[in-house]
Order: sequence, then C-alpha cells, then structure tokens
Amino acid sequence: MNAGTLSDQDRPVAVVTGAAGFLGSHLVDRLLADGCRVVGVDNFVTGHERNIAHLANDDRFTFMEQDISELWDVEGRVDFVYNMASPASPIDYVQIPIETLKVGSYGAHNCLDLALRKDATILVASTSEVYGDPLVHPQKEEYWGNVNSVGVRSCYDEAKRYMEAAVMAYRRKYGLETRIVRIFNTYGPRMRLDDGRVVPAFIGQVLEGKPLTIFGDGSQTRSFCYVSDLIDGIRRLSLSSFADPVNIGNPREMTIREFGEHILRMSGAQVGMEFKPLPSDDPKLRRPDISRAKEVLGWEPRVVFEEGIKLTWDYFEKLVKG
Ligand code: NAD
Ligand code: UDP
Repeated sequence: MNAGTLSDQDRPVAVVTGAAGFLGSHLVDRLLADGCRVVGVDNFVTGHERNIAHLANDDRFTFMEQDISELWDVEGRVDFVYNMASPASPIDYVQIPIETLKVGSYGAHNCLDLALRKDATILVASTSEVYGDPLVHPQKEEYWGNVNSVGVRSCYDEAKRYMEAAVMAYRRKYGLETRIVRIFNTYGPRMRLDDGRVVPAFIGQVLEGKPLTIFGDGSQTRSFCYVSDLIDGIRRLSLSSFADPVNIGNPREMTIREFGEHILRMSGAQVGMEFKPLPSDDPKLRRPDISRAKEVLGWEPRVVFEEGIKLTWDYFEKLVKG
C-alpha cells in the first residue's frame, strides 16, 4: 500500500493498545508507513512517552491516555484493533500482578467489544508463555503447554491463556475476525533499560561497568527475535485470514550464558558474570517452531542475531551516554 496515494478518508484506521510500549510503538510506526491512521492507547504503566514523542506532529496519529481495563471507546471508524497492552517483563508483572490479570481479561474484553461494535478485525498479542515451562521442544502451536496456575508467573501466563480463550469465544459466537500472535522473546530499541528482561539487563550492566547477572547456571535457553522481524510477522498475520494462533519468533536458540558471552565479546567489556538464584518457574528451554508462519504467512526472520544486537546496543549506548 502506498501511503502517498491515499486521501485521509480512505486510510484504514487502526487502534493500537500499548502504543507507548516497546512493540506497540514500533507497530504504530509500521502502520503509519503502510498508510493507516492510528489511534494509540496507553496508560504508561510500563511504557514511556519518549517512544511516541516523534509522532507529536503527525496528523495521522492520535493518542489516548487510557487504562484499557476500564471502559473506553474510540470515535468514528475502526478497521483494525491491535491489542498489545500488557506488562511483559517478569519483574513488571510480578510487581503488578492484579493489573496484569485485569489487562489480559477486562482489557481484552474491552478490545474485543470495540472490534465487534466497529466491525473491525482484531489481533491480540499472546506469548510463548502460554506454553509455560514446555515439555515439548521446539514449541509448535498444537502444544497445549505446561503452566503452573499458582506460580509467580501465572498472573501473566494465565491472563494470556484466558485472552486466547476469549478471542476464540468471540469468533465462534459472533463471527468476529480474529488473529492471535504468540510472540517469542523479542528485543530491540525502545525496550526499557530497567525492565529486567535479559537483553536490556545485560547491556545496561555492561554500560554501568557491572557484572552480568546470570540467573541459575545460565543453561536455560531462549531464542531472540529482532523487533522489525516481529512487526513484519504481526502485519502479515493481521492482513491474512488465518484465525488459529501463529508463533512468531526467531528459532536461533542459545543458552543465557552464551548470550552473556556474546555481549561481553561484542562490547569488549571485562565485567565478568555473577550467578544469582533462578526465579521459580523460569522456563528451561524455549524455541519456536515457525513452520506455520512460514507456510501461512510466507514469513521468516531476516535479521541475524549479531546485527540485531548491535543495533540494540547502539540505541542503549546513545540513550545512556547521550
Ligand atoms: P512493554 O511493557 O514495553 O509495552 C506494553 C505497553 O502496554 C506499555 O506501554 C504499557 O504502558 C501498556 N499497558 C499495560 N497495561 C495497560 C493498560 N491496562 N492500559 C493501557 N496500556 C497498558 O512490553 P512489550 O514488550 O512491548 O509487549 C507488548 C505486548 O507483546 C504485550 O502484550 C506482551 O505481553 C506481548 N509480548 C511481548 C514479548 C516480547 O518479547 N517483547 C513476548 C511475548 C509477548
Ligand atoms: N535472566 C538472567 N539475568 C537477568 C535477566 C534474565 O539470567 O538479569 C534470564 C531469565 O532467568 C530467563 C532468561 O534470562 O531465563 C530470559 O529472561 P527474560 O526476563 O528476558 O524473559 P523470559 O523469562 O520472559 O523469557
């Protein structure tokens, strides 16, 4: 779609919740580049104004400061709803577990009801956490997961599982057009340096000259996807007609220790590593099976880890050193 050829009335209208967050703000940029008008919604609980500051003078972007777990509405036409709002880092959702449960349940219902009222297509951001500490590796969408419903992560995992159930109920009951993306660990510029997730944590520690904090023995694995690839997958999914969940992530898997060693090599820092207790229910292995995304969306990641992590490093270095 060429943004230059559309009059304002013809532009599709997208509502993006969590617009001031890491992924939401990148999605807003992509939708604007694709020729949409965008209504961004956020209550800044884990997001930041600086992520959308560059849009202050863009007529096609409107911002609503709003907790999506409360009742809210958007005026006028809406074609797409992208529900990206939720705390996403383990340290965030463990600190605000009730808000996390509410945004996955009340917040999701409010988005689904909005899509229903507006006859819009809705895409919701689910997560690899629906697989819990998986007993199947790599994780395919058919796997039902291994979540501890009373563990410290359950406020997040179960809220996302509930949201998926709600999406399917609206689809079956009302014929709503729905999409579910299961996002695997994604990183890039605009993450919060202090959000506790391993990518900003390790980069921040090197920049402050502190040792990398490895939880457990560092043998647990993750598979890191660069943000532009993730956003491309989300956009393709929203424009497809595919209603079952789709994993989007990068299948290149590494241990957390290997990830730390890479950060130390790349930065040349001599800060070393210190070992801390592994948080409970921390998944031991995680790697997406992306056969479905390849087949249905023609999607696969393009940004190699070394390139993506360098771009992320440059962003944080500039943020810290100015
Ligand atoms: P983030 O914390 O940077 O962004 C989330 C945004 O949602 C923030 O701006 C926050 O203020 C907003 N928000 C939270 N609760 C809200 C509420 N009640 N009302 C309005 N706004 C609210 O996190 P992120 O990494 O950008 O994650 C975005 C989405 O993707 C989340 O739904 C998350 O669960 C999902 N996800 C992310 C990853 C990842 O690796 N980044 C992995 C799996 C799933
Ligand atoms: N982790 C770590 N040190 C840190 C932060 C995280 O060793 O300072 C580990 C964490 O225990 C987990 C992995 O890195 O095994 C990824 O953690 P993150 O919080 O980024 O994401 P998630 O656990 O949700 O995949």
